[in-house]
Amino acid sequence: MTKMIIKRDGRMKPFDVQRIRGAIDAAAKDYYGASYCFLDRSLINLCVRNIVNHIDILDMDSIPVETIQDIVVEELRRFDIGLSNCYSNYREQRSIYRNSKSELIDAVSGLLDFTNEEVLTENANKQSQLVSTQRDLMAGEVSKYISRTKLIPPHLMKAHDNGEIKIHDLDYYLNSAYNCELVNLDDMLQNGTVINKKMIEKPKSLRTAMTIVTQIAAQVASCTYGGQTVSLSHIAPFVRISQERITKKYKEMNLPISDERLQELIDKELKDEIKDAVQTFNYQVSTLMTTNGQSPFISVCMYISEKPEYEKETVMLIEEFLKQRIAGMKNEYGVIATQTFPKLLYFLDENNTYPGSEYYWLTKLAAQSTALRMNPDVISVKKMKELHGYAFPPMGCRAFLSVFKNENNEPIFYGRGNLGVCSVNLPYAALESGGDLDKFWTLLGEKLELARQVCELRYEKLRGVKASIAPILWQHGAIARLNPDDDILKAIDERGFTVTIGYSGLYETVKYLTGQSHTTKEGFELAEKIMRVMRDTLGNYKINQPHLRFALYGTPQESTTGWFSDKLKKRFGEIEDITDKGWITNSYHIDIREEIDAFEKLNIESKLQRYSTGGAVSYVETNPMADNVEAILKLYEHMYETIIYAEINFESDVCGVCKYSGVMDNDPETLDWVCPVCGNRDQTKLSVVRRTCGYLGETTWTKGRKLDILNRVKHL
Ligand SMILES: [Zn+2]
Repeated sequence: MTKMIIKRDGRMKPFDVQRIRGAIDAAAKDYYGASYCFLDRSLINLCVRNIVNHIDILDMDSIPVETIQDIVVEELRRFDIGLSNCYSNYREQRSIYRNSKSELIDAVSGLLDFTNEEVLTENANKQSQLVSTQRDLMAGEVSKYISRTKLIPPHLMKAHDNGEIKIHDLDYYLNSAYNCELVNLDDMLQNGTVINKKMIEKPKSLRTAMTIVTQIAAQVASCTYGGQTVSLSHIAPFVRISQERITKKYKEMNLPISDERLQELIDKELKDEIKDAVQTFNYQVSTLMTTNGQSPFISVCMYISEKPEYEKETVMLIEEFLKQRIAGMKNEYGVIATQTFPKLLYFLDENNTYPGSEYYWLTKLAAQSTALRMNPDVISVKKMKELHGYAFPPMGCRAFLSVFKNENNEPIFYGRGNLGVCSVNLPYAALESGGDLDKFWTLLGEKLELARQVCELRYEKLRGVKASIAPILWQHGAIARLNPDDDILKAIDERGFTVTIGYSGLYETVKYLTGQSHTTKEGFELAEKIMRVMRDTLGNYKINQPHLRFALYGTPQESTTGWFSDKLKKRFGEIEDITDKGWITNSYHIDIREEIDAFEKLNIESKLQRYSTGGAVSYVETNPMADNVEAILKLYEHMYETIIYAEINFESDVCGVCKYSGVMDNDPETLDWVCPVCGNRDQTKLSVVRRTCGYLGETTWTKGRKLDILNRVKHL
């Protein structure tokens, strides 16, 4: 007769048959629900007797608790498979719960003693050694833990843990926050706003307007976890207000000078004010630290004709932003380095793309800035209008809204956002199919369905949340003007927020299924079909759930690239060119190691980007371009004609010890950056700026992302 139980932690406890009965009873109530009755209970009594006999036969003085549970599953299976499975799940759940709890403690201690590398390097823009950032990261770990054990159903968590899908931003899932947005600055500046319970009226000068914009940016960033975009055309009216004020001032002085001289004085003073205002913006955005432990992830929209009545003033602001970006910003070592924020989005249009067009001079300035600072990135007004009918910026990094019209049938873009992302690991479906194409389509459908459920959860999680949770967003104009007690879903529905399903690794998927890269005819046909099937599947979801505006998104996968790769390797082993590289290729991109000309790359990728309605961005990798502005202008023209959104990448590094400015070496053993001039390998004294995703990042990345960065070949 067994007398003692060995618990998981090794301690001993007397054997108690009532505990077994209790656990089966709980599983049975769960399984049968209301129909659980006396008859079932008598069967369970019989089963418990069998279990006790089974244990007795083993004739052990003490027995591990896991062995007992195995016996329970086995005996239950003899007369009720459904109940047996239910008990098994219950047991698995308890085990996940136990493991998560110790994982939480390990994760938090790992943050504090700097051994939790995964979390410490996950976001290239967070300085994880700072005490303020550590508080944000700790909160993130708690959020992950509670989401995992209490909020997200086990089958979705399991798919995430397997790496079939990735539920992004679990570190913010616990809060009622969403991802990213286009800030409705126009409304906030023109009609006033409230910041930290202080009323901010319509500003009377550009200088004040710009200061308010940076305060808004910081507040918005603290209430969300993704990026935001502000548009210069919304600030342009304040250039005119300042101009009118300066003109009035000079006219009242009645100076004994000519009209031309008077105009010169006015122009000079206005220019000075624009310069000051833009400088304020740049320094504020680069030095602010939000409650998320980082600078606001902010993009600036530079679309000359967005507000035609303020075209001239918008151009003046764009010009100054570009000039200051070219001039650069000194880093902590006093060396001019590439600024990571704000990201600049320059719109190529019929009035600025080709030589001879009205604002071509401004585009030349943009190209000069791109050549030096990897910014601005470009958006083709022509391609956007062809595909969507309108041109509008992405929200921060790359997430694009779909066109949405309000009750007056007018399209609205600003004051809208995206609720969150769940990505599908395409190579997972491919490898699971074993190369059987029919099976692949079925599996792809299943993974998309899992992602759909995650997106639906994100929406439902915001039900009943009141506007007062983030006044700047919901009450004071960044998104809406609700009352404090209104439900935020009202604004989310009325303003057509999107939810996004992302995808990664089209290259690996096509390579595995066809043996070809998608730059070949056969490979491309499958690649395009996968994109089309995903877009159409999301379209069908929308028919059943019109309130969820599903958008297909080329996942930026900062750290996801290595994460997906590791998961695939664990499940399917090492497969040449698929799981042996350490990274998974970004969205629909062509293999980063494939030798291909920049123009051809954009041609092929543009045909895939068009399906990615929730956003995506193509890269061109080049050698440092400082002396080749002409080449950038040619690339701009090609981008204007072919692709919605593209970026030019090159290396741009500075050594803090010897002040060398150029390209750092990388030690293949440790993946550490090394200065080729003085040999400095102190990572804290090197500024290595690379395109991480849509944003630029500096020096620290996860291993998978570093491998991706190091293996990129040049296209020009
Ligand atoms: Zn050096």
